[in-house]
Order: sequence, then structure tokens, then C-alpha cells
Amino acid sequence: MKFIDLQKQYKKIEIPLKKNLIKTLESGNYIMGEEVKSIEKKLSIYSGTNYAISCANGTDAITLSLMALGLKKDDVVFVPSFTYISTAEAVAQLGGIPFFVDINKKDYNICLDSLEESIKFAKKKKYKIKSIIAVDLFGYPSDRFKLNKIAKKYNLNLIIDAAQSFGCKYYNHPFGLFADIVTTSFFPSKPLGCYGDGGAIFTNNKKIFNTISSLRVHGSGKNKYDNVLVGLNSRLDSIQATILLQKLKLFNNEIVKKNKIANYYQQEISDFFIKPTYDERHSSAWALYTLRTKYRKKFINYLNKNKIPSFIYYAKPLHEQVAYKSFPKLAEGCQNAIELCKEVVSIPIHAYLKSSDINRIIKVVNNFENEH
Ligand SMILES: *Cc1c(COP(=O)(O)O)cnc(C)c1O
Repeated sequence: MKFIDLQKQYKKIEIPLKKNLIKTLESGNYIMGEEVKSIEKKLSIYSGTNYAISCANGTDAITLSLMALGLKKDDVVFVPSFTYISTAEAVAQLGGIPFFVDINKKDYNICLDSLEESIKFAKKKKYKIKSIIAVDLFGYPSDRFKLNKIAKKYNLNLIIDAAQSFGCKYYNHPFGLFADIVTTSFFPSKPLGCYGDGGAIFTNNKKIFNTISSLRVHGSGKNKYDNVLVGLNSRLDSIQATILLQKLKLFNNEIVKKNKIANYYQQEISDFFIKPTYDERHSSAWALYTLRTKYRKKFINYLNKNKIPSFIYYAKPLHEQVAYKSFPKLAEGCQNAIELCKEVVSIPIHAYLKSSDINRIIKVVNNFENEH
């Protein structure tokens, strides 16, 4: 049993993918070829937005977004403390200040009360406040409507980091809507992954689209030898686009399967564990299925003994990371983030889990209560 079974997925697409890869190899257009244009068109439809711009990875997708929104040195960007490092790293790399905000204990996304308190505090301290980056953690959509209200009230931009949530739905709307910019990652283990690094940016704003299209190719003007902005080299290559085009064909089916497994886990796994809580009106991309227990260390040993793979996402909140400790947060800190880092364990969820494996996972997990 694998935590995420990319080899099994590959076997499903092996024949047509190899054929298409050979075509790409023979085309001679290896960077931003036809396949890139073609995946961008499909991604834009899938995300529900007018514009999809591919780029080199999910971290660059955030960096390019902040650049396009005009982030300046010492501008504050509010980010959750319980997420992957990229969310804050992109801000700090550009000379901005990531302000760490606590998460809520229901869906583990940014806590709206803590966010508003943080904004008020930063204003009082005369920080230059600029943007909010909300993360759709583990695949579950952040509350876009409420985030928009807060962003409007304080005149902030809103970016959604959807690296883990490509394909989630917010009140039945595609994930790309209701933010200035939504970003994603195609790292192999993400809901839609390629076989290397890749990322994308989604927006309905034409000006942002034009700026990011330029920024990702060295700030090009009429061509890449005409430079009108200080940009980056952050392009998707044709081989990764070919892989994404093939994988997108499996995607809807995979999401349906993962949702079925998640529902089954929700019903069958014992309340000895704290399970994810989510509003049925939304749907998650289920990048991860995460349980909480106070007996985590014992639980992981027990899972290992029973050959069930598990991982901790995340063991340390960002505001406690050595390189990020000095950035601001509220005095009461990010208590929920700290608590979750001590309790979370993610167990396998992917579209290629056999039903016998799913049943074994449930049985073994539920038996822990008797053994611990
Ligand atoms: C994976 C991830 C990223 C970064 O994506 P890369 O493609 O690895 O750069 C950013 N944010 C979150 C929440 C992620 O999980």
C-alpha cells in the first residue's frame, strides 16, 4: 500500500502518454510549446477563470502573483501559520513581511477572527498592509466570500494558495473564483501533478494576466529581448504540459473516488480520533486526509507496524521556523497551529486504493483505541 500511488496512476495512462511524449520530443519546441498553450486553455476552463498562466512551480506562482500586485519592501502579507513554507517564503523573498495568522480548528484554514485582529494590530503598529494569502489546506476551500469581505474592508488584495486544492468546489463554484489571484502547484503529489515541477496562476483580471505573462518570461515586452519589467524565468516546459494534458483526463474520476473514500472514512473511523469537519456544500480535492490524536507518536508506530503509511503535515508551525521566527504575529501567537502540529497524522487517500486496503486501514485505525 502506498501513501499516494503515482506508479499505478502512470500505468493507466502509459500507452497514450508515451505516444504523446514522443510527439513532443520530435516537435523541437521544448519550452512553452503548443502543449503549454493547450493546457492553459483547459486549465482556464477548469478553474472557472478567464485566464490561466502556467509557470515553473507553485512557489513561483505565489511570487509572480505578489509581484503583479505590486508588493514592495516591508509590505505586510497576512498568511496562515499552519501551511507549507512556500506561502510565507514567497513574501519574504520579495522583501515583504509575512504576518502569521492562526488557523481555525474546524477546517484548519485561516481563522477569520484572528485575521481581522492581526490586520487591526498591524495597522495600529503602522505596518504597510498589502495582501492576504489564504491557503486551501489539505484540499478544502477557504471561505472565499468572508475573506473577500475582510479584504475589501481593509483595502487588501486576496490571493488563494490552492496548491493542495486544484479541483475543489466552493458552493459548487470552481476553485479559481472569488479572489484577485488563485495559484496552484503541479508538484507530483498534488491533486493534479506532473512528473517534475510546475505551477499555474488563475485570474479574471486582464491587467494582472498581462503583467504575469510578462513577468514569467523575464519581464518581456514585445519579445524576451525587450524587457519592460524586472521578471523571472518561470516557464512550464512542453513535456510537463504533455503530462498534465494526459493526467487531466483522469482527474474528474479521481476526485469522485477520493471523495467516496473520504466519506467512508468519515463514517467508519472511530470518534476516538478527531476527524476533519467540513461543510457539505463545498467539496474538497482531498490532497490529504488528516486525523488528530493526542497519542500521535504511539499511533504512528502502530501504523508502521501494520504497514500503513502515514505522514505528518505539519510538525512545526511557520512562526516557529528558525528563518521565520522574527516575523510578526499577535501576542497570543497561533495557539491552534501549535496544537495541531502536535496532533495531526495523514493517512492514505488516493484514487488507486483498493477497497480491501481501505477496509484494512479503517480496521487497523479503529483498533488502535484497544491497543494504545
Ligand atoms: C506544495 C505547496 C506549495 C508550493 O508548490 P511547489 O510547486 O512545490 O513550489 C505552496 N503552497 C502550499 C500550501 C503547498 O502545499
